[in-house]
Amino acid sequence: MSRKMIIAGGGIGGMTAALALQRAGLDVTIFERAPAFAEVGAGMSLWPNATHVLQSLGVLDEVLARGEPVTQFNLHRPDGKPISTIPMDGFATPAVCIHRADLHQALHQSLQSVGLEPNQVVQSFSQRRGRVTARLASGLEATADGLIGADGINSAIRAQIHGAARPIYRGYCIWRGIAPDTGRRVRGHISETWGAGQRFGILPMGQGRICWYATRNGPPSQPDAPAGRKAEIQELFDDWHQPIPELIAATPPASIMKNDAHDRNPLRQWGEGCVTLLGDAAHPITPNVGQGACMAIEDAAALAKFLRQATDTAAAFRDYERMRKARTAYVARQSRRIGAIGQWENPWIVKGRNFITRLVLSCSPNEQLNTVYAYKI
Ligand SMILES: Cc1cc2nc3c(=O)[nH]c(=O)nc-3n(C[C@H](O)[C@H](O)[C@H](O)COP(=O)(O)OP(=O)(O)OC[C@H]3O[C@@H](n4cnc5c(N)ncnc54)[C@H](O)[C@@H]3O)c2cc1C
Repeated sequence: MSRKMIIAGGGIGGMTAALALQRAGLDVTIFERAPAFAEVGAGMSLWPNATHVLQSLGVLDEVLARGEPVTQFNLHRPDGKPISTIPMDGFATPAVCIHRADLHQALHQSLQSVGLEPNQVVQSFSQRRGRVTARLASGLEATADGLIGADGINSAIRAQIHGAARPIYRGYCIWRGIAPDTGRRVRGHISETWGAGQRFGILPMGQGRICWYATRNGPPSQPDAPAGRKAEIQELFDDWHQPIPELIAATPPASIMKNDAHDRNPLRQWGEGCVTLLGDAAHPITPNVGQGACMAIEDAAALAKFLRQATDTAAAFRDYERMRKARTAYVARQSRRIGAIGQWENPWIVKGRNFITRLVLSCSPNEQLNTVYAYKI
């Protein structure tokens, strides 16, 4: 009889884990808090380290059909002058920008034998004799050989094991919006523009849509300006190079989302017994290197690899955690560092930053890129 696994949370991490475990021959059920298995939100970048996993799971073709492959990253100053250009087309599998909902759907439609239980909040768990029982807010209980907490940055499973500490605010907020693609651009090019305490990024994500994001330093949980969210962003980026003001102007105000930049310090051990964590539940990452979901996708592949080989679930979970801890901590650290540098405010320091960034990226972009992006699980 195949081993039973419960996954708490059907986000990108939970869905990828379900697909990978299904392919490894495990019997999987996902309990998801939301009333449907779907994603909302904006666009995202998936880098070769994640598209390599998606290829091995048989969903990369679908992802590429729904998104847009990335061939080059351009870094600018607010006046439009280039700081640096990095080719992104030399990887074994392509980088791709895609709407989150499209990625989620591509994963969803590949699940064949996975139990999908929406409207179910996993509240807690208990363990006895190598089995784990998840308790749900609905009053239901489910027992299995293993429980995977893929329930995001405010994970209930993580809180039960490690306590309910708040994520760490990193000093800036991020707005995201989706504008129609006017076509006046080079296909496959993505960009980020670095100002002083502000950044703006552009990710064409296929199907006539451009996702943009904008950042600004400030205290956490800032309310929108009285003029409204869109007017506030327009004012902040009014004199930045085109198409930045054009994209903001073309974005429906109601669709603009705002998040604070958060992460957490790395954990010594993620899980206990027959319980482990995956994705943001284990290692939330600031969005600066576009790797949070990519790390969750890598986690899913690693977890399936250890569970496929093992008969002892707890031992497989500890092997998986050992393999993933250093890598995810490294990527989170890099992301936090790049975010801090990108958000520098002092105009002289910003000038020096741009000069040094150009120099560093022109000398050794591949080595740094490959460590994060060309990794193969
Ligand atoms: C502004 C921004 C931009 C980003 N851009 C990128 C990018 O370009 N590329 C990239 O790779 N990453 C990016 N990320 C990071 C990425 O969004 C996350 O790392 C990724 O979504 C984590 O997936 P997850 O499945 O671990 O968690 P989540 O996506 O948070 O999914 C958790 C799921 O669990 C469910 N849930 C929560 N609690 C419970 C419960 N108690 N019981 C049952 N279900 C529960 C939730 O409803 C949700 O469906 C970005 C993040 C932000 C904030």
